[in-house]
Amino acid sequence: TNDLYGKAALVTGGSRGIGEAVALRLARDGADVALTYQHSRERAERVVERIKAAGRRARAIHADSADPAAVRAAVETTVAEFGRLDILVNNAGTGVMAPIGEIAAEDVDRVLHVNVRAPYLACQTAVAHMGEGGRIVTIGSCMAERVAFPGASLYATGKAALTGLTKALARELGPRGITANLVHPGPIDTEMNPADGPNAEYQSGLTALGRYGRPEEVAATVAHLAGPGGRYVTGASIAVDGGFTA
Ligand code: NDP
Repeated sequence: TNDLYGKAALVTGGSRGIGEAVALRLARDGADVALTYQHSRERAERVVERIKAAGRRARAIHADSADPAAVRAAVETTVAEFGRLDILVNNAGTGVMAPIGEIAAEDVDRVLHVNVRAPYLACQTAVAHMGEGGRIVTIGSCMAERVAFPGASLYATGKAALTGLTKALARELGPRGITANLVHPGPIDTEMNPADGPNAEYQSGLTALGRYGRPEEVAATVAHLAGPGGRYVTGASIAVDGGFTA
């Protein structure tokens, strides 16, 4: 489709995994897309080349989500590059899976900085530039709704916080015609959670569909929310989890 033609998007963590699929999908739907990365410069540039080959503008931005100045600068760079910002996808995320007794205070800071503070600051910076029709889509996790196995205290704490951010922003930005929604993926086959990993069979078994999802299956819902189909959806948490939370 050409639903997003003329729109400008920023996807955090767009070098691989779910963020890569989201960046490619938004571009396929017509948007110009900036994407951030932390380490994977070459992979980010490859995503940019694929977007440009499809005829859209694209830009890779090095921005560690743990760094507040870098997060704000990524938003400003996107606006400077495309002259506008319509869609913010807070996707970059990290996790430490361990029993609570083994989690250091530094782990708490790092995970919450990347998974919570960065989306917060990106939203704050982005909404100063967004007009009517603006869209914020944040990638949460099914673990925000159902923590189905131990070791996830830190990850689930951060992901659950995004519900508050999303609902509060929906209320605050609704009068400006800007929506804010949360997408909760289930087990998705990426480097963070490979479908052939040690815990994969167990996770598949917790879904209703009995399988991992693909990054493109999350990207489809993000694109829907970012496009005209998402016009009347705001403050919502949408599971794309194969029934993990059913
Ligand atoms: P991956 O680990 O496969 O990819 C992570 C992406 O985020 C990469 O582009 C990475 O960049 C970027 N990133 C990570 N940390 C930072 C940082 N500090 N600053 C900037 N960019 C960063 O993860 P997924 O694609 O699986 O996950 C994407 C999102 O989906 C995350 O928020 C995750 O919590 C969530 N999620 C994933 C699930 C899954 O099963 N896969 C399930 C539920 C939620 P670089 O390549 O440079 O390192």
